[in-house]
Formats: sequence, structure tokens, C-alpha cells
Amino acid sequence: MSKDVSAAAAAKPEKLVAVKGMNDILPPDSARWEWLEDKVRQLMARYAYRNMRTPIVEPTPLFVRGLGEVTDIVEKEMYSFEDRLNGERLTLRPEATAGVVRAVVEHSMLYEGGKRLYYMGPMFRHERPQRGRYRQFHQIGAEALGFGGPEVDAELILLANALWKDIGLANVRLELNSLGQPEERKAHRAALIAYFEQNIDQLDEEARRRLHANPLRILDTKNPAMQALVNAAPRLIDFLGAESLAHFDAVKAILDANGVAWTVNPRLVRGMDYYNLTVFEFITEQLGSQGTICGGGRYDYLIEQIGGKPAPAVGWALGVERVLELVKEQGAQVPALVPDAYAVIPSRSALPTAIRVLEQLRAAGVQVQMHGAPTASEGMGSMKSQFKKADGSGAQYALVFGDDELARGTVTVKSLRDGAGGAQVEQPLAQVADWAATLQSNR
Ligand code: ATP
Ligand code: MG
Repeated sequence: MSKDVSAAAAAKPEKLVAVKGMNDILPPDSARWEWLEDKVRQLMARYAYRNMRTPIVEPTPLFVRGLGEVTDIVEKEMYSFEDRLNGERLTLRPEATAGVVRAVVEHSMLYEGGKRLYYMGPMFRHERPQRGRYRQFHQIGAEALGFGGPEVDAELILLANALWKDIGLANVRLELNSLGQPEERKAHRAALIAYFEQNIDQLDEEARRRLHANPLRILDTKNPAMQALVNAAPRLIDFLGAESLAHFDAVKAILDANGVAWTVNPRLVRGMDYYNLTVFEFITEQLGSQGTICGGGRYDYLIEQIGGKPAPAVGWALGVERVLELVKEQGAQVPALVPDAYAVIPSRSALPTAIRVLEQLRAAGVQVQMHGAPTASEGMGSMKSQFKKADGSGAQYALVFGDDELARGTVTVKSLRDGAGGAQVEQPLAQVADWAATLQSNR
């Protein structure tokens, strides 16, 4: 390479790209996101869950204390940093439950009784990016705090199930388990450690490392050589007392009475330490190995752990990217965003009148896209190129603000969707509101 060429290359600013595993969500795809968010808002209103928004950055100890030190998230997935000005340890939230609980405690929200809440937003985990697994991803979550009965566990499962119906998802299966209460887990844990110690020669390296720190996670192993061992391990469910079993049975009975199918997966443990009693996941076989689209459960001890007055709670979170991928996979129809009309404006002198009319139409609820000139110095572009844009916009109508029309105080409304030479009528500008009304009633 000659000196001149490299100098030129050096002068060109380096191209900046998004952080690995963090995605831009662009139109037209963003329409699917808005569609899902609208469905969720309507659904949450039907179940009287209220929206809540917490900061993306939280103090690091919130997650260390909340999720548990020996969890994948806290051990290796958190984006943590020090505030440069005051040295405070901060973390980009890897999930939202801990933040919701912090806010509920901080604002004494349970003072007058339980609260039903939901949130939507980005989460951050430093994982190996692959299909369905990103470093910035999005969750929608629902939490019911201050309610201890199994009917609220069931309500949350029915709520998630209703969402799958509302967005047209099929073939989503529900797995349940009960993690019991801390005392029951302690007894099971001791039995589990004893069992694995007796069979230590069959454990892989990771399992040996987890044996004393978090033996429950060994049950989660993907190692085929350990499946038989793990299948024969002591089951937590056999250590549950009458109360825990009754809670679990009550959840199942409500699901049965409402036609929601489930299976018990005794190995379902979930990634955070905070769960007790009911845990559940909604799983699909259609997304490869990232098949869990939603997971949750009861977390009766988290509020206390974060410094609040003890109160029970239960919730779930779904992965938006995975849900939308499944919507796509199953071919569900998501309405495309197209304007009702595209304004063709042959000359700049027509702009003032055109813009005034477009504003009237928009105020009346009509969706109108105005033709835009690519440069400020040139004209608006040929009629041919403007009609090409109008067609490409997907609009039903072109509104033509030609000089002749404006001289007559009219605009031409041309249908773009009934074949070549679509019908056109000239509308007096004074009556565009009437035209807008007929358009609305035809929607
Ligand atoms: P996984 O076992 O797939 O790692 P998880 O148990 O870590 O999931 P949760 O913390 O329960 O997941 O989060 C709830 C949902 O959020 C998951 O079921 C999944 O749909 C989604 N999710 C979790 N991590 C990611 C990620 N890195 N990228 C995209 N979606 C994710
Ligand atoms: Mg994970």
C-alpha cells in the first residue's frame, strides 16, 4: 500500500458497530414489538396488573444479595462497573425482579396490601451470543407481591397462558415443580450431597465443583453420561411436607379447572436462588435449545432479604426475542404498519397548503405520510418518482396537491390499490374532514 492510500484510509473515521450480542430493533420489525407490547398492555389491564418502571442501573449488592452468590448470573454474567465519580459499585440489571422488590420496599408499596405489577424492558447478561441468547435482551414480567395463596400463583400462570392465546401461539408446554420451603430444601440438599458423594466417580468436573456450593444445579446437567445418575437422585418432591404439597396441589387444581395442561418436572430448579414453592416454565420445541420462553415462580423470602418487612410474592418473566421468534416461526399474522395516505406534492409552492391539510387529516386520525425531498436545494422530485414512493409506502391513497388542484381549492384523491389507473376523485379542501370520516368508518 502506498503512503497516500494509507493516509486517506487513516483520515476516514472508523466505522462504529453495535456491541456484540446487542441488537438494533428496526422498522418494519419494530412493528412486531409494538404489536406485542400493545397486546400485553391490554392483557395486563384485564387482570388489573399495573405498569412499573425501574432504573436499568442498580447497586451491585442488590443482585448479589437478591439472586444468590453461586448463580450463573452473579458469578459470570453481570455487567458491573464502578461509578467514576463516587466509586459506587453498579450493575446493568440482568433481570428486573430484584429492582421491582427494591422499589416496592423503598416506597412502602405494600403498606395497604398486595400489589400486582408488570414491566417491560431491556436486561443485560454477559453470555455467549447465539440464537435466542443475547447480551442485551428484553423481558416482559409480571409480579404479584403481598399475596401468599396458591390462587395467585395460578392467576399468573393463567395470565401468561392468556397471552399465548392473544398472540396466537400454539404448542407451548407448561412445566411445574415445587421447591418447597427452606427447611425441606435443606433436608433434600443433605440427601443429595450424600448421594453424589457416594457416586463421586460418576460426577464430571463441573458437578464436583458444584457439589457443596449448589448441588441442586447438578440436577440441571446437560452431560449425557450423568443422566442416569441424576435421574435416580433423591427428589425434592419426596421431602415436601403436607403444607407445601397442599399448595402445589391447589395450583394444579386451578389449572385443571381452567383447562391449562401441565406436567411436573421434578428437575426444574430455575437459575436464581430466591425461589420457593411453585416454579414453572413455558417451553417450546420450535426454537432449538433456547426453548424456554417464560419462567417464574414464588419468591416468599426475597422481600425480607432485600430489607423489607417479610411478605410473600410470585412472578414470571418472558423473553421478548424468543416469543417474537416463535410468533414468526408459527407464521402468526402481525398487522403491518402502512399509512392510509401518501401526500404527493409536485412543487414547494404547494407545501404550505398541503401541510395545513395534512395536519387536519392527522388530527382526525388519518395516517398520512408526506413526501419528503432528499435535498433542501432541489425541487420535490418528479411525479413519477413520488408515485413510486407512494406505492412503496403501502398507502391506500395518494393525495395529490397539484398546482391546478390548489388553484381550484381541491386535492386529488387517487386510489393506489385497485389496479392500473386507480379511481380518482377531486375533493374540495374545505371538505377533507368528511373524506377522513368515510375513511375511518371503512377501517
Ligand atoms: P436460560 O436457561 O435460557 O438461560 P434463564 O433461566 O437464565 O434462561 P430467566 O432468568 O428465567 O432465564 O429469564 C426469563 C426468560 O428470559 C427466559 O425464559 C428467556 O426466555 C429469556 N432470557 C433469559 N436470558 C436471555 C438471553 N440471554 N437472551 C434472550 N433471552 C433471554
Ligand atoms: Mg440463563
